Amino acid sequence: MSPTDAAGEQTPAATPSTPAPTPVPRASRAAPRRATAARPGLSGLPDGALEEWLAAHGEPAYRARQVRDALWRQNAQIADELKTLPAPLRNRLDEAFRIDTIVDDEVKVADGGLTEKALHTLRDGSLIESVLMHYPARGFAGPGRMVHRERNTLCISSQAGCAVGCPFCATGELGFGRDLETAEIVDQVRHAARRLAATGRHLTNVVFMGMGEPLLNLDRVLESVAILSDARLFALGARHVVVSTSGVVPGIRRLTELGPQFTLAISLHAARDPLRDVLVPLNRHWPVAQVVAAARDHARATGRRVSYEYVMISGVNDTELDADALAMLLRGDLAHVNLIPMNPVAHTPWQASPPERVAAFAARVRRGGVGVTIRANRGQDAGAACGQLAADRAGEPPAPAVAHRREEIVRQSEVALRGSRSAEGLPTDLEAAVRFGSRR
Ligand code: SF4
Repeated sequence: MSPTDAAGEQTPAATPSTPAPTPVPRASRAAPRRATAARPGLSGLPDGALEEWLAAHGEPAYRARQVRDALWRQNAQIADELKTLPAPLRNRLDEAFRIDTIVDDEVKVADGGLTEKALHTLRDGSLIESVLMHYPARGFAGPGRMVHRERNTLCISSQAGCAVGCPFCATGELGFGRDLETAEIVDQVRHAARRLAATGRHLTNVVFMGMGEPLLNLDRVLESVAILSDARLFALGARHVVVSTSGVVPGIRRLTELGPQFTLAISLHAARDPLRDVLVPLNRHWPVAQVVAAARDHARATGRRVSYEYVMISGVNDTELDADALAMLLRGDLAHVNLIPMNPVAHTPWQASPPERVAAFAARVRRGGVGVTIRANRGQDAGAACGQLAADRAGEPPAPAVAHRREEIVRQSEVALRGSRSAEGLPTDLEAAVRFGSRR
């Protein structure tokens, strides 16, 4: 995914000329890892587990509230910051749990301070990213009343790496590492909240659009959403959370059964199967009609509009044919399309669509009866593409690997642009993830 704000405001799509790419290899640099046994993360405990642990250690029930306040009001990262607790209890908690599951942060600031990209290191060395986007208040509607209040939106990761392998995405090229634990997901939020609190601000929105496919780690994503919306913990309203998927149909159906917990976003990127087979390889398993049918049912059942994300790639998915196919696919649905210019990534020869083509595409889809917003990409001066910081940290790949990957993408997209569906199966990691995800 890209660091854009699905709940954000309309912004002219500023598309700088594409800089020379930095090579990124396709070879799986994120070797699949299993989370080895470790102390559980304190912030991700299931409801009631902290109370049980405290009772088992002879502590009064009110200590649970003190721990929760330290974690979620003060965003404590080390045991010494659990200040309201006696020192022996702090030590015991530290021995039994990880107060913070993120062991190191590298934060890069971009867009004149409006965007902060964080590269988080986890205990096993896995690298994940989160992006904090500030939207200052604007517009004046009378004394003390702003038309748009200040918003601070955090885009978080649900997996280290990603098995889906979208060729326009730096994370997809890293391959799959592992699912994140619940605490590793919500600790990204606590880190951003801590940085915001230092300047008197607070987080207003969370979007699951960072590294990974959230619905292939659905149990932990749902636990995270429950924690973030719990009034005793982070207390974020469900309307302020967006969960995105590239099209895991059983996962969408499961969300529909749960009712309106948050806003659903679909990473669509193409309305025609041949092209989507290439842009979102998961489409070879769950084709676009099945994905949109599940999303349509979700919108009807929950009464909540579904967002469709569409990365604009010059000469690939930005033609009049694509605009018409998109309008025809979504016309009459409770749906809205967000157009996002592609971020440059090294392993693909593709570039972002020019602004005038994005505007013409948007106008054509609107004329076709579907609402559209053009989003601006954030963080162009700080490794904008999702997974780019992690890819940079992994180091430069051999040039032949990059050249081979580019040739592969050109070959696949030429077949797709001629209108033929991909004859290729799913990559091995994705096949395994889909088989497992379908059982849940
Ligand atoms: S699904 Fe995975 S590979 Fe595709 S855009 Fe999202 S993070 Fe990248």
